[in-house]
Amino acid sequence: MFQLAIVSGKGGTGKTTLAGSLSLLFQNHVMADCDVDAPNLHLLMNSKKEVSLEYYGGKKAEISDSCISCGICERYCRFDAIVRGGPYRVDPYSCEGCGVCVAICPAKAITMRENKSGEYFLSRFDGNPLIHALLNPGEETSGGLVAEVRKLAIKVSEDERRDIIVIDGAPGIGCPAASSITGVSFVVIVAEPTVSGIFDLERIVDTVRHFRRECAVVINKWDVNHGKSQLIEEWCREKEISILGKIPFDERVEEATVLGVPVVSMNDSPAAVSIKSIREKLENILHGGKE
Ligand code: SF4
Ligand code: SF4
Repeated sequence: MFQLAIVSGKGGTGKTTLAGSLSLLFQNHVMADCDVDAPNLHLLMNSKKEVSLEYYGGKKAEISDSCISCGICERYCRFDAIVRGGPYRVDPYSCEGCGVCVAICPAKAITMRENKSGEYFLSRFDGNPLIHALLNPGEETSGGLVAEVRKLAIKVSEDERRDIIVIDGAPGIGCPAASSITGVSFVVIVAEPTVSGIFDLERIVDTVRHFRRECAVVINKWDVNHGKSQLIEEWCREKEISILGKIPFDERVEEATVLGVPVVSMNDSPAAVSIKSIREKLENILHGGKE
């Protein structure tokens, strides 16, 4: 099964718009939103939730009534997660789950409990599955939750005999972004012609190449700054990275977002025309040809 990841060096480049529209252009697909900190593909697709699952990422300490208030754990916790004031308790936002307090508590009053860090969901848009998730505020295990989203996407894809998984990757180059591209078949990098555009592009290309994935670039809103777009094209040529397409600025993208439909469903939109051509090139790649 082909796994296509759409990524960008930072948020706000139009990555989700492209992912949603490309999904719709592939007949038998599963969508996976790997931006678990700020998911919005399910909003863009106006999907309906079918299944909710809990995500447990790591453990947190918990103090029971057997505590004799000796204060030893407070002295040993290097994350300042033990809070005094009445009975001792653990601040779950500061606890890193190292387990030191459990080992040193003389009253055996501390245990480690599984920590619910978020949820992930199976939703549907027009009958097609969309896997998405939401990490709880303050949690730092987004890479693990991205892995769960991708596992579920593969399972649903196998169960329903789907041909392609379209992944809306986590933005940036951190752990969730890396988790979005490991093992995928092909990566589309969305760049924008801004002052930091090339810098963001360089960082994400380095990450993609680190994981030895094949990639190509799409320049979004290319006509907003012709000069910067040209610089991006020249840089890509130098690095031997193909440009899959250039999407023009199009007011209908915002209109589509408000309506909860991918812009590609608006036939007369210039962005839709460009995305359809990108999709044709991807089809070639999918079938082993050159873009
Ligand atoms: S070490 Fe154990 S007994 Fe002492 S304050 Fe901490 S939880 Fe309470
Ligand atoms: S598990 Fe580690 S971080 Fe959490 S309260 Fe105990 S000592 Fe502190």
